[in-house]
Amino acid sequence: MTDKLNLTDEQWREKLSPEQYHVLREAGTERAFTGKYEKNKAEGMYYCAGCGAPLFSSESKYNSGSGWPSYTAPVGEGAVDEHCDVSHGMIRTEVTCAKCDGHLGHLFPDGPAPTGLRYCINSASLDFKPEE
Ligand SMILES: [Zn+2]
Repeated sequence: MTDKLNLTDEQWREKLSPEQYHVLREAGTERAFTGKYEKNKAEGMYYCAGCGAPLFSSESKYNSGSGWPSYTAPVGEGAVDEHCDVSHGMIRTEVTCAKCDGHLGHLFPDGPAPTGLRYCINSASLDFKPEE
């Protein structure tokens, strides 16, 4: 469905800030409560900081208290990919951008209605644009 964006490591390093590179390309995690979008309540769309694909709408954002931006659902089917992640001695579901395979965060089954899901996403992976 989506055309993949494939860049070399060097191209990613040029395109992204060191923090964005660490999260998106090395599956890093920003420290809790430090991300720029954790407390953002404005209406608009969150795009992938790597490739600009729309990922999450402010409509599905909620305050989980976890310290990271949290969403109950991605903006559409196929916007993100989900993979089993067994790193750090835990079994988690990793969430990546479907277009550029950039690491976004993790998915947990403890979110509120209607989905019961919590997409726990790094601010560094996102680029917010307010609604006009
Ligand atoms: Zn992307």
